This record gives sequence, C-alpha cells and structure tokens, in this order.
Amino acid sequence: MALRDLIDIDRIFHEPAVADFHRGREILARYPNAERIEVPSHWNIPELHGNAGSVEDWVRIKRSTLVLGVKKGLALRPNGRSAHFIAPSTSNGCAMSCAYCYVPRRKGFSNPISLFVNVEAVCAAIARHAEKQGPLPEPDQIDPEAWVYDLGENGDLSVDAMICGNVRDLVALFRGLPNAKGSFATKAVNRDLLAYDPQGRTRIRFSLMPARIARAVDVRTAPIPERIAAIDDFVRAGYEVHVNFSPVILYEGWEADWAALFDAIDGTISDAAKGQLACEIIMLTHNAGLHEVNLGWHPKAEDLLWRPDIQETKRSEGGGDNLRYRAGWKGKWLARFKALLAERMPYCRVRYAF
Ligand code: SF4
Repeated sequence: MALRDLIDIDRIFHEPAVADFHRGREILARYPNAERIEVPSHWNIPELHGNAGSVEDWVRIKRSTLVLGVKKGLALRPNGRSAHFIAPSTSNGCAMSCAYCYVPRRKGFSNPISLFVNVEAVCAAIARHAEKQGPLPEPDQIDPEAWVYDLGENGDLSVDAMICGNVRDLVALFRGLPNAKGSFATKAVNRDLLAYDPQGRTRIRFSLMPARIARAVDVRTAPIPERIAAIDDFVRAGYEVHVNFSPVILYEGWEADWAALFDAIDGTISDAAKGQLACEIIMLTHNAGLHEVNLGWHPKAEDLLWRPDIQETKRSEGGGDNLRYRAGWKGKWLARFKALLAERMPYCRVRYAF
C-alpha cells in the first residue's frame, strides 16, 4: 500500500489543551478542513475505542481519523530485550492493521493513530534519563556502546512521520546524546526519514517475514520487497538498520519460505549494510480475544495464527489468554530458525530471540 493511501485525515479528536502546543497547532493547521471534536481524554473515546464489532469501519477509521493528546506519564521503563529502556511514547495506535497486533488489545480494535503534541517534554525526559545513566558500562546484546531507548512501542513511527515532526525531533535529540541511541521497529517505508540526518544514533528495525505470509497477515503495510530494498538507502542516510524477524509464524513449509527470505535479503543489501546488521527473532504470540475478532473480518489470517494443535495457552497479565508455540517445541523450532539464518546470512548477529 502506498503511504499516501494509508491516511487521509478528515476528522480529528483532540484534547482541549492540544492547541496550546506548537506541535498541536502545526498538525491542526495541516488538516484545515478536518472536523474537530474536543474530547476530555485521548484514552476514552467511545465512538472509536472498544468497538470490536464494527470491523467494517476499522479501515475507514484508521485512514480518516486522528487523535491528538498530551502525554501525561513521562516515566521511562526498563526493558532489557530489544532496548535498555522504553521511552515515553509520542504516539499510539496505527494506520495499519496487522492481524496479530497487540496494540489494539488496550485501546480497542479501530485504534487510529493518536499523536502526543508535547514532544518537547518527552525529549526532555529522555535526555534527563540518559544523562543520569552515564556511559554504558560494557557492551551487551543490545548495543556495544550506547544505552538504547525504544521509541515506537505502541505504533509505527514511519507512518507518524507522515503527519508531524515528532519523529524528526526524536532523531535530532539522539543525534546530540553522546551515550544513547533511539530505536524503533517499522513495517512501513517512509523516505522522508532519509533527510533526518540521524548520524548513526537512531536504529530503525525493519520487520520482515516471508512475503506470501505478510500478504495475509501484515494488512496495509509496505510489501516485504520494498522494506528490504529500503535497507541500503537508510544505511546510506546514516541510520543503523537492523531487522526484526517478527512474528515468526509456523506452518507446513516455513523453513523453505524463510530460507528464500534470507536469500532475498542477502542478494539485495550491500556489504556496508551487512557489516552493521543484527536481528531480533520473535516467535508469534497470539491471543484468544483477538482470534475471535479476527474471525469476523479476516478468517484467512487465523488459519495461520490460530494453531491450538501446536500452541499452548497462558493467562496474560492483563487478563485474556495468550497463545504461544508449545514450550518444548518452540525451543527446537527456534534453534532450527537460527541455524538456517546462520547458514544463509552468517554476518547477521542475533541480538535477541524469544
Ligand atoms: S504496524 Fe505494528 S502497530 Fe501497526 S498494526 Fe502492525 S503490528 Fe500493530
């Protein structure tokens, strides 16, 4: 899907204070004809959130609706897996509709992009936090020399960057922090980011999976070959570019498909990109509630995602049942995945596998 087809904003829900912020005024001015609806909080908008039944409206809502708010909690959370810390988010919700996405579990299923307009406060909180950390004591699996802050936990920053300058501001922030890097995963290719001059201090992680599976489950995202083709351009533009093999979905024939994907990456990217590459491998976690909802709009994806014959259920912290590949098998499949990767792309260091 072309980025321009992803969003076409004609309605903006906003908290009352949004126009007090430069970024808020900038976004409102960008969509002068959009209907504006004042709401007490970006969190609870009954017309938008929780309406799991109105599946036919989701895509329309995701394309046409924007929510603007002010981020209240500016705490940073430790992570230790993909990043050292999770930064306060500058957005949540997403214009895309991946069938396995966990983001809608919190806000309801038509969660369009919500942007926070107090990006200066978010940047200041990150800068203060990084300053307190001092230098990274020793290289670790996350990074050899910098504290890494995940910036895009609840959405996709490549798409946010089509709407406003929050991502540009974050990239600029990390350019000036001597001991920290920003990092976000993405399933879109937004070439505007090539002009942000990250100077190696922002890590972009393109999520990849076999293209035919992505066509079924990565709804409204950039096609896999486009993501692979973008890697060199982002490296040349000064990003550190990693890949997320995520989610890894198991089915008859997965090994052949992944081998073909590894060969496609290997045959496309430059030696410079290979020299700095690392990856995360994340096996699918599915969710019983999401399964029910997906049956209503995208049952084909569920043939891939919902495999109780090879999955086991675990009650999640927020309630609801999560499904993961059975423990005994998962380790074996992960080992096979890593062996295949090592054979096809020996230069690709595995930062994190789960
Ligand atoms: S791109 Fe990410 S945030 Fe958006 S729907 Fe897909 S998994 Fe969810």
